[in-house]
Amino acid sequence: MAQPKQEVLAEFDKCPVCGSENRLMKKLLDDEILAGRRDKDEQGQACLQMLTASVMDPLKPPIIGALIPAGTAVIDVCLQCGTIYAPIVVKSYVRNQPPPMPGMQGGIPPERIPGFGNPR
Ligand SMILES: [Zn+2]
Repeated sequence: MAQPKQEVLAEFDKCPVCGSENRLMKKLLDDEILAGRRDKDEQGQACLQMLTASVMDPLKPPIIGALIPAGTAVIDVCLQCGTIYAPIVVKSYVRNQPPPMPGMQGGIPPERIPGFGNPR
């Protein structure tokens, strides 16, 4: 099933407080590329944290399989003044997944654990 495209809603290439373009994860990624440990073409995004939330109404039951709009903020920290900000803000969609079936979470079923359910 084709997913709708992601859409960049906002980009901030400079710190909103001091105007520096020097941010932590971008610097670490640039250092890796300079050292030849990473290909520039597969650069991608390096970020301290990605915050994602989807638009859901907690008062309504979720529709399984429905596409829900979601927002992701790529978070990084300015190396000049320490401000934490979002260089990139993206709109995307997540598909509502059905809850896992009981007993399908993985791990060992209780009856297979030695000693479990076998009184000694
Ligand atoms: Zn700054």
